[in-house]
Amino acid sequence: MARYADPKCRLCRREGEKLFLKGIRCETVKCGVTRRKYPPGKSSWSRGKLSKYGFQFREKQKLKRFYGILERQFRNYYEKAEKQKGNTGENLLNMLERRLDNVLYLISFAPSRANARQIIRHGHITVNDKKVDIPSYLVKAGDVVKPRNVESSLNIIKQNIELVRGRNIPAWIDFRGDEQGGVVTQLPNRDDVSVPIQEQLIVELCSK
Ligand code: SF4
Repeated sequence: MARYADPKCRLCRREGEKLFLKGIRCETVKCGVTRRKYPPGKSSWSRGKLSKYGFQFREKQKLKRFYGILERQFRNYYEKAEKQKGNTGENLLNMLERRLDNVLYLISFAPSRANARQIIRHGHITVNDKKVDIPSYLVKAGDVVKPRNVESSLNIIKQNIELVRGRNIPAWIDFRGDEQGGVVTQLPNRDDVSVPIQEQLIVELCSK
């Protein structure tokens, strides 16, 4: 019941840094990471105590939690990233960044990526005027992401934009408003990806 509920979210306590998994709550004092530099109850916790494998494994787990993907999905992305030209770690991040649920989060259509997945699955979103209900859909340059032109979808998006307000929209998306949505002007590069991840640690782990 309410009296037992912990008013602070500590979802990111293991990582020791904010992963923004809970929408606007992450920007309030209800975020347990904002005040603590170490996980609750472990004042002696130190990054230095982790083994090399521990660091690598933690980066992978962090990435999966950040984008809300499972191990099997991660493996699929990694295999694709490996086959592409260039740096595997950057390819991986750039691909995850192009997920439709992530785009919705970036353009403030949803307070969190988890909420974005729900909105997409419920059929509120179109890409190039066609309904897309797959959160893992990868946007490409020229795609136009906007709400379906029905009252319920427009209302949800409008409310979320009001709720979120002020999120920084990356340069690779041209945001045109709640009804016009966002246009993907180019594919993201590493500098556009804000996820606090050292991707080379993940590559070291997965290429063993
Ligand atoms: Fe919870 Fe968000 Fe803070 Fe992470 S960043 S601990 S998800 S409130």
